[in-house]
Amino acid sequence: MVQDLSKRLFERAQRVIPGGVNSPVRAYRAVGGSPPFVARGQGCRIWTAEGKELIDYVGSWGPLILGHAHPRVVSALLDAVRRGTTFGAPTEGEVRIAEAICALYPSVDKVRLVSSGTEAVMSALRVARAATARPLAIKMEGCYHGHADQLLVRAGSGGLTLGVPDSAGVPEEIARLTITVPYNDLGAVAAALASNPGSVGAIIVEPVAGNMGVVAPAQGYLEGLRKLADEHGALLVFDEVITGLRLGIGGAQDRYRVRPDLTCLGKILGGGLPLAAYGGRASAMNLVAPEGPVYQAGTLSGNPLAVAAGLATLQVLGEGGIYERLEAHAARLEEGLRAAARDARVPVVVNRVGSLLTVFFTSSPVVDLASALRSDRDRFARFHQGMMRRGIYLPPSQFEAWFVSVAHGDEDIRTTVQAAVDVMPQLL
Ligand code: PMP
Repeated sequence: MVQDLSKRLFERAQRVIPGGVNSPVRAYRAVGGSPPFVARGQGCRIWTAEGKELIDYVGSWGPLILGHAHPRVVSALLDAVRRGTTFGAPTEGEVRIAEAICALYPSVDKVRLVSSGTEAVMSALRVARAATARPLAIKMEGCYHGHADQLLVRAGSGGLTLGVPDSAGVPEEIARLTITVPYNDLGAVAAALASNPGSVGAIIVEPVAGNMGVVAPAQGYLEGLRKLADEHGALLVFDEVITGLRLGIGGAQDRYRVRPDLTCLGKILGGGLPLAAYGGRASAMNLVAPEGPVYQAGTLSGNPLAVAAGLATLQVLGEGGIYERLEAHAARLEEGLRAAARDARVPVVVNRVGSLLTVFFTSSPVVDLASALRSDRDRFARFHQGMMRRGIYLPPSQFEAWFVSVAHGDEDIRTTVQAAVDVMPQLL
């Protein structure tokens, strides 16, 4: 009976929303059953419409590094909302957050605020094509960069989960502008550049992949991409929509010490509200209208509420100790999950970088899309269901990252590991 409320809502939703959800992976097709509807969240926990309490490792798919309803974010939002929600005119907060981004990301001289990661990456690619006067982009199989036409080619995340990494409705002519190569394969990038001389304007990558599950860059991979981009006159675009402000306040580019030409941020930047950004060298960003000829605009871009939540989040992240705590808790989770699987003799590979983690149900290393796809998805689905029954809310797909937040404490990690200890033996 308790379960019924979410089920009833889902039935109603399916009548008026495609698949009943506003983003495909929320529909639970990969793990079976129907999604719980969420009524509220606090810290690392959410409560479903029925009132069931869950420890949340989805964190709205990345933004909630501080957990749900962090008091500083809530207070900044309350202050902002009283002053009005949108003006379509410049506000001081936009300047402050742009200055903060430029200070934290030395590769970024100038930055434009937008409302979603999709918009950020789509616009960055437009800038790269304009800066180089070249039409093609190289992207890595299993990386997801939002749902702009040119980037919905061999994409990860929901498309991969549902088995449609290439979307209907993307004209062949546009798909042909994107060359896909395996992640972590510099030779394939070099070959693609060599066979399209003078035509590749952008090499775009998730510096740590999060959308085929978490896959770390091999040693030298990002440096190699930097070198190839320079040699061939292409711009290197880091899609740090997930990794930015998560793998350290300076993102993956600071962690791995590789400077891209253009950077895309999102998720954490808006502190749980819709905000994203793209930025880079002044020479490239000065191409953006009204300074230059690349058109890009948005009614709600730099929205005051989103900027206020983002600024409050940045402030907390800058106060120190946050990333050390995330690292320690995520490492403990990783070790606990690995031990639970080992004791139950269930083969798993746990890939973790900082507070991003995926448990792949496979015995061989996961370094790219092909190896990720060797995972046992049926086993993952049963793991997901078992964990959910024990109050642990995981991303409903083998090919997504778990997001640890600073709100996850020792006790929450212990509870999660204990749930895995209980569930793993049932998966054989
Ligand atoms: N890039 C990456 C790396 C992402 O993970 C996502 C979304 N998960 C996007 C871009 C698109 O962002 P949005 O969903 O905000 O459009």
